[in-house]
Amino acid sequence: MARATDADVTIIGAGPAGSLAGATLSRAGRSVVCLERGHFPRHVIGESLLPRCNALLDTAGLLRSVEARGYMIKRGAVFLRGEDRERFDFGEALPGDRPSTFQVPRDDFDQLLALEARRAGLDLRFGHSVEAVDFDRGGAVVRIRDVEEDRPYDIRTRFVLDCSGFGRVLPRLLDLEQPAPLPRRVSCFTQVEGDARPEGDLEGDIWICIHPVNGWIWIIPFSNGRTSVGMVCDSEHWEQMEGSNRSRLLRRFGEEPNTARRLTNAVPVAQTRCIEGYSRQVKALHGDSWALVGNASDFLDPVFSSGVTLALESATLASGLVERALRGEGVRWDLEYDRTIRNAVGVFLVFVEAWYRRDLETVFFASTKLPRMKRLITSILGGHVLRQDNPLVDDARSALRDLSEAVSSLRAPSSARRPEMGR
Ligand code: FAD
Repeated sequence: MARATDADVTIIGAGPAGSLAGATLSRAGRSVVCLERGHFPRHVIGESLLPRCNALLDTAGLLRSVEARGYMIKRGAVFLRGEDRERFDFGEALPGDRPSTFQVPRDDFDQLLALEARRAGLDLRFGHSVEAVDFDRGGAVVRIRDVEEDRPYDIRTRFVLDCSGFGRVLPRLLDLEQPAPLPRRVSCFTQVEGDARPEGDLEGDIWICIHPVNGWIWIIPFSNGRTSVGMVCDSEHWEQMEGSNRSRLLRRFGEEPNTARRLTNAVPVAQTRCIEGYSRQVKALHGDSWALVGNASDFLDPVFSSGVTLALESATLASGLVERALRGEGVRWDLEYDRTIRNAVGVFLVFVEAWYRRDLETVFFASTKLPRMKRLITSILGGHVLRQDNPLVDDARSALRDLSEAVSSLRAPSSARRPEMGR
């Protein structure tokens, strides 16, 4: 006799993607188990949300608890290059876009979402690591280890959502990894206290400061008085520098005038961590009874803070499709899931590539700006990359090229082209 199903859906990982999918499917009445190998609160990088997150959290019934937590409100993104400065105000994007979002210490935010999902009915198990998954016609058997007790057990399930982030459980088990879409870069970061923040509504803005030699720096202020500060640059460039990671990072901060001014009286209050080679791509986003969600699928680059937004976007879409599939409705996963998510990632990819080629600076720092152009870009920077009424979504590459050309034709002839930001 075939073994009975233990859970309709098994989710691997309780980051934002796993928690949102778990809350949504549990509220829909499904039996859902989520295995999380760590214990929360745990450290993870990725603290600056985009306004699109608020809409997705709202749909999943998670926004109220996030709003009640008192996180720093983020109303804009500021790009700085020496004396040049451009602020994108999310309140000036397209009609219907949310005007603000949050800067969130991720240990707290992820724990909040996970516990909310548990309140919604999710069977959430911390300290349980997924080691293997055997697929068959009826679904899958998920092989798990209870880490504390060192006890293996398994769960029979109808559908697996892999939300394991950089754990990349199914990409590894099913040989789905592809060459990374972007060159290898390194990111180092820490937290400080005592930075000189702008006042009023501007306090919560993210700052993205272009380093004069290589790469860029982020400054993300929290409401608890701490500020996340980090740098992204070419791996080779980082390796050529001498000293500890912390001393290299502080030296780079000192070399960029906007960062140096802001951090004059700041003191580091956290460990310095580095991550390298985080850009990832997979061959497929779904199979017969599985889907990859969030960072377990593709991850590009942190420059536009798109990671959590894409994690929530894919979790929202995937959980709706799983629910339909479990009801016996036909789902065209290739069109309804893979294509949609790939389109969303593709828009950010065009922007990320243009950023490192430094084409985007031409547009961002243009002295003459067309108001509509700015609204369209702000909407993308707000994470609304599936809005069909934004020409930058429909065909990002050529729309961006047109913008760049339009701006160049308005520009003073003396402004010389800069070398690429690294490779
Ligand atoms: P995660 O948050 O990584 O969660 C995955 C979970 O799965 C983890 O808790 C892990 O313990 C668990 N897991 C892994 N393997 C297993 C297993 N075998 N069994 C059980 N559980 C498992 N994004 C932003 O939106 N804004 C930013 O400002 C930003 N900055 C970034 C800066 C850097 C340097 C980098 C590298 C990324 C940044 N990101 C940012 C991206 C962001 O970190 C991720 O996109 C986001 O965390 C993805 O969420 P997720 O739920 O898919 O995965």
